[in-house]
Amino acid sequence: MTLRDLIERKRDGGRIAADEWRAFTRDLSAGTLPDYQVSALLMAIYFRGLDDDETVALMDAMLHSGRTLDLRHLTRGRIDKHSTGGVGDKASLVLAPLVAACGVAVPMMSGRGLGHTGGTLDKLESIPGFNTRLTLEQASAQIERLGCALIGQTGEIAPADKRLYSMRDATATVESIPLIAASIMSKKLAESLTGLVLDVKIGAGAFLPRTADSIRLAETMIALGKRYDCPVVALLTDMDAPLGVACGNANEVEESIETLRDGGPPDLRELTLRLSAEMLVLGKAAATLEDARVTLERALASGAALEKFREIVIAQGGDPRVCDDPKAVLAQPAISEPFVAARDGYVERIDARGIGRAVTAMGGGRMTMEDVVDPSVGIRIVARPGAHVKAGDPIAIIEARDAACAAIARRALEAAVHLGDIAPVQRLLVSHRVTVAGVERFN
Ligand code: URA
Repeated sequence: MTLRDLIERKRDGGRIAADEWRAFTRDLSAGTLPDYQVSALLMAIYFRGLDDDETVALMDAMLHSGRTLDLRHLTRGRIDKHSTGGVGDKASLVLAPLVAACGVAVPMMSGRGLGHTGGTLDKLESIPGFNTRLTLEQASAQIERLGCALIGQTGEIAPADKRLYSMRDATATVESIPLIAASIMSKKLAESLTGLVLDVKIGAGAFLPRTADSIRLAETMIALGKRYDCPVVALLTDMDAPLGVACGNANEVEESIETLRDGGPPDLRELTLRLSAEMLVLGKAAATLEDARVTLERALASGAALEKFREIVIAQGGDPRVCDDPKAVLAQPAISEPFVAARDGYVERIDARGIGRAVTAMGGGRMTMEDVVDPSVGIRIVARPGAHVKAGDPIAIIEARDAACAAIARRALEAAVHLGDIAPVQRLLVSHRVTVAGVERFN
């Protein structure tokens, strides 16, 4: 069977068998398939989809295209969290040490920012010396010792997915639910997890803005996890406006440390607690979500979560003084200036996608994987949707490296911030919970 035969079959609505997916990912990893044929197959999948068995077979083939982080010798639950990506979303930085401090192992494998969304690895690397490029052996030893490692996807994990993902990015075929689910789960199952919590973003700043698509993505990933004995729980969470105050890299690390110190913006704290509570229950460190919440709040209040973060920073080569005085350690912007309200009114909306694009254009994100991130730049949203402001009140603080960079932020804020005369209806931070038992909707 040639790749041309598979393209033709998928184009006509047919199925690809498990052994054919295995041969495809083997040849893909070996680099022997022409890009034009892989692209054509991806477009056929984008339009025709994959049925459940094909999705499992593709995921399994990608999972076995590389090595795994084998943590099965650990007696603790091994739980990771995956977010579909957002703006100002620094929940991973708080949640990983917090959950590890409560007795669950967190092998957290994160990504870099791309497009309008930020990336956990870029944020962590704004801590001087912090090394996210651990080998699988180093990560495994650190997780055994500290209960957590914060790393990137090594070339050894699911190499077929790595190759396919870059082709999808270049051929506008990323937004396919079976391809997204198989891609994410091939990497997550390579961490030998005993459970996974998904943070599926909805709203203008989300990757899949329609709620129905987010639920379908969650259900597809839950079904994949079930086949591998890895329970998956998904929360659908709001990404219409940025999460918390800081959007950038160094400023997000500073806000994460503030949250680990039992402070921080209320929405970031609440989202972190909701996701972490699911992790504690899946990791069998708490019997109920309510019990988990008590344990987590105690770990924040006692300083145990911050101390766990300090241990991780030291283990991964970072400057631990960041935990005590973040501003003294992290890169600071040359310019810090307010963006003020042009008139009295309510902040009706702040478009997360517009803010994310602005941070990227300022140099705080990347449009291609080769771009170098400037950790010092960003935007702080100081008046959130629902706030009443008077003309001249600050809505945001622009953190820029020069005047041109500040002008990019100002133009973006003019388009992204909507003022009105009526207080907007507050959006729910967590709108749905999806498990193997079904979809629960919150009001
Ligand atoms: N993240 C991934 O790892 N894969 C996708 O397909 C989309 C987001």
